[in-house]
Amino acid sequence: MSETPAERTGHPRPPDLPERIQHHIDGRAVDSVDGGTFEVLDPVTNEPYVHAAAGATADVDRAVAAARRAFDDGPWPRLLPRERSRVLHRVADLVEASDSRLAELETFDTGLPITQALGQARRAAENFRFFADLVVAQADDAFKVPGRQLNYVNRKPIGVAGLITPWNTPFMLESWKLAPALATGNTVVLKPAEFTPLSASLWAGILDEAGVPTGVFNLVNGLGEDAGDALVRHPHVPLISFTGESRTGQLIFANAAPHLKGLSMELGGKSPAVVFADADLAAAIDATIFGVFSLNGERCTAGSRILVERPVYDEFVDRYAAQARRVVVGPPHDPRTEVGALVHPEHYAKVMRYIEIGRSEGRLVAGGGRPDGFPTGSYVAPTVFADVPPEARIFQEEIFGPVVAITPFDTEEEALALANGVRYGLAAYVWTNDLRRAHTFAQAVDAGMVWLNSNNVRDLRTPFGGVKASGLGHEGGYRSIDFYTHQQAVHITLGGAHNPTFGRADPH
Ligand code: NAD
Repeated sequence: MSETPAERTGHPRPPDLPERIQHHIDGRAVDSVDGGTFEVLDPVTNEPYVHAAAGATADVDRAVAAARRAFDDGPWPRLLPRERSRVLHRVADLVEASDSRLAELETFDTGLPITQALGQARRAAENFRFFADLVVAQADDAFKVPGRQLNYVNRKPIGVAGLITPWNTPFMLESWKLAPALATGNTVVLKPAEFTPLSASLWAGILDEAGVPTGVFNLVNGLGEDAGDALVRHPHVPLISFTGESRTGQLIFANAAPHLKGLSMELGGKSPAVVFADADLAAAIDATIFGVFSLNGERCTAGSRILVERPVYDEFVDRYAAQARRVVVGPPHDPRTEVGALVHPEHYAKVMRYIEIGRSEGRLVAGGGRPDGFPTGSYVAPTVFADVPPEARIFQEEIFGPVVAITPFDTEEEALALANGVRYGLAAYVWTNDLRRAHTFAQAVDAGMVWLNSNNVRDLRTPFGGVKASGLGHEGGYRSIDFYTHQQAVHITLGGAHNPTFGRADPH
């Protein structure tokens, strides 16, 4: 008997993989109104492994109606924050209790290395715990003028939150929106990415088991231009939290405009890692290798442009390329794997196109395409281009794969101009032992988040978001609570002088 592609590439099918993926509306798993489905591909074999319901306007209408009923008449928005918090802690308990299984499924669906998918599943639980606690700790602001005036702020859930998520680390990124939206008492309709619909369908079971009431969580699968667009244009969805490409963000911005919706946009990036000659080079190399090749390079905050000060440039490039060649590419489920398979053949083709473009724009010093020993599947060898000029497309455009561009600089001013010379502004990484330089650079760089001699370690209380084409608004900590609530100010005069009035005081 001949081997199946999964056997050839060593991609075992998890035993509890669902037979099909449906929507989840009003507490039930349902198919599309028109019966439409789409194929979901296994990232290793590139063959369809499941069919998912393809949602369109009618499905979004049903989901929004269910979410509205749950918001208008159901208990969820009316619970005390600590009551909702208890449910959300149960969600975290359930995620933690099944983290290996969740990671296995996520790895199967996305091609992410299993050890990294496990880390992401645990981070999802952490997100739920964090917002479960934050919403209780949140003391509503009250300002008193003794004896005369009391002002306080009512925080109210907004209604049906539309959550639109991308395919990279989908389970974790879905938690990043679900946790604060639910903690603050909203009901939701989630539209996950069509490349990776599996993890969103897992949320339905977890939230249900934790005690989130029927109709509070709704899920519509489908293509962005169908299901996603219908959600964005729906008049009863007052806010959209979107994570995805900048181009999609622009479309959503325009399509949401007629309804003046609340929008939060976490978009693309082309983040610089700036290495000064006085830096701890070994630490900078380790961190910048991890920063662009972990999560298969499919990371919004990837440090995909490395700017290196001239005196250490040649040494950096040599050591970096050598270390990149040692990164272990392998089947996603293998715990030794550091770079797995890219999510989808379309994305693989895009990354490969950029590698071809890069050959004429820079000097290839590591990788450069399909790694040896992987005749099939969406595998890419960690790829490093040196001497990349700032006008190069591989310097300017987001590739979203294991590909990095290295560019030399001579002065701090030049480094800053290079760092800021792209349309994006999500993250920046600075490596130097000069404290003054580290902080002045952080102040001047166009980036929503800056890591100094550090790599992607983030306290959940801090803001997350980008500037320029990388985003609009910030989530994280209290900013998420602000985004998902109306803050209504109430002012009461308690006594003392009346408010000034025109003319005579009203006789009544
Ligand atoms: P994408 O923009 O193609 O899709 C994201 C989501 O939007 C999907 O669910 C898709 O179906 C939906 N969508 C597409 N067109 C739509 C439309 N017209 N209306 C409504 N919804 C629509 O992005 P992707 O390829 O899935 O994700 C990769 C991108 O996400 C990269 O650019 C990456 O940098 C970005 N990203 C950003 C962050 C961040 O926090 N800044 C985090 C992760 C990923």
